[in-house]
Amino acid sequence: METTRRGFLTAGAALAAAAGVRRAAQAAPADGKRFYKGQFHTHTYWSDGSAFPEQAIQFYRETGYNFLGLSDHNIYADTRRVKKVGKGKGFVRQEIFDAYRRDFPGSVECETAADGTTSVVVQTYAKMRKLFEKPGEFLLLDAVEGTTRVVDANGVDNQVHMNYLNVPGVPEYFRTCGTKATVAQRIGESLKAVEAMAREKGRESMFILNHPIWRWYDVKPEDLVANPEVRFFELCNGGSPYAPGKGLPADGFATDRFWDAVNAFRARRGQPLLYGVGNDDTHGYFGTVSHSPPGIHCIPYNAWSLVRAEELTAEALIRAMKAGDFAACEGVQPEDFSFDAASGTLSVSVAGKKNLCRTIQFIVTKRDFSEKPVGTVSIEPSDAPEDKQKVYARTVNIYDKKKIGCIAKAVSGGIGEGVKASYTMKPDDLYVRARILSPERPPVTAFQHPKVHVAWTQPYLRA
Ligand SMILES: [Zn+2]
Ligand SMILES: [Zn+2]
Repeated sequence: METTRRGFLTAGAALAAAAGVRRAAQAAPADGKRFYKGQFHTHTYWSDGSAFPEQAIQFYRETGYNFLGLSDHNIYADTRRVKKVGKGKGFVRQEIFDAYRRDFPGSVECETAADGTTSVVVQTYAKMRKLFEKPGEFLLLDAVEGTTRVVDANGVDNQVHMNYLNVPGVPEYFRTCGTKATVAQRIGESLKAVEAMAREKGRESMFILNHPIWRWYDVKPEDLVANPEVRFFELCNGGSPYAPGKGLPADGFATDRFWDAVNAFRARRGQPLLYGVGNDDTHGYFGTVSHSPPGIHCIPYNAWSLVRAEELTAEALIRAMKAGDFAACEGVQPEDFSFDAASGTLSVSVAGKKNLCRTIQFIVTKRDFSEKPVGTVSIEPSDAPEDKQKVYARTVNIYDKKKIGCIAKAVSGGIGEGVKASYTMKPDDLYVRARILSPERPPVTAFQHPKVHVAWTQPYLRA
């Protein structure tokens, strides 16, 4: 990493270009609403991310993001935190500290002890707001990643992580919940704890079940069928390495299939559908990630959400997302999308890109799907250490993909051309959603990450 200011910015722009990201092209305002681009899952030196909050925010703001949630593990950044500069895990790398001093001289509070060790204060969200927020252009959302583990009687160990937004604090529950619960119980209790704190603080909150497939299918579709109050999950997480491919069928068990399994059950039961969010789960900003093995890219600019809201406030964004008026995006985003609930018609458009043929797919689940799994897959994570094999033992249900999450229609554009398409629900469709495919290689190559750029609309029900 170069150490000039220009070098720092150029690195950000290069990453953005590698991810195929342009500054968000904003659609013309319709009924006073417009699209805002952002993501909710970012780590900094407040927990295990490798950047000061100022650096993380600058990376995003300079590539056209309108909103960002810094979501560190079980911590809301309003206390005092000091990090030491040095080598190895837990330290601020010297070149990151040098870049911080150079780019944010007004922020730096540090002291050097007699033994030569430098300690640096990590600044609070309140200070970040003053530094970066601009009405109508850039918003910081209060965010935390509630980070928990659940261990069953056989020693099977699941990570259950949940982001919540617009609640400035950490419910006691996340500090005291321990490891004894089922995954479904943990999710339900966490949601209740977050909602209680939101009520206490008079805030409208949003709760997202994070990276269900990480590490080894730790959360199963049934866990979200059992918790219909959970409205959002992470459909795309750029940061997690995801489960290893060993022992899985060729078509795997991607988050798309996870999503449709949950929504098939929910739609049949008249429950609210689950919506999918795009997030980066950024940990590294400077080419390396402190706690991940080489090849795992927790990089910025991979996945985001495009929200159509009345204004750039936390309340307006959350309201729009609860109404399903947003898309999850990984490297490509829709130009426009709309759903006419009366006729059950979903319309989507995407701009053209030089040398590429883009495709819009419409995906449905059929009313007569069977709730009985067509099979199970047992995970044998043979790349886990010998003594950890038991810890990662999993069996997941596979449902009939001819009825659940099947492609009802696909429309491709010519080379370089944009695509516009629509689909009207058939009487036997439970819900419809759309997916845009753009045949470019994403910067993240982890197993279960999409192999081409994808954008997803939410699933919609006919009135
Ligand atoms: Zn996590
Ligand atoms: Zn995370």
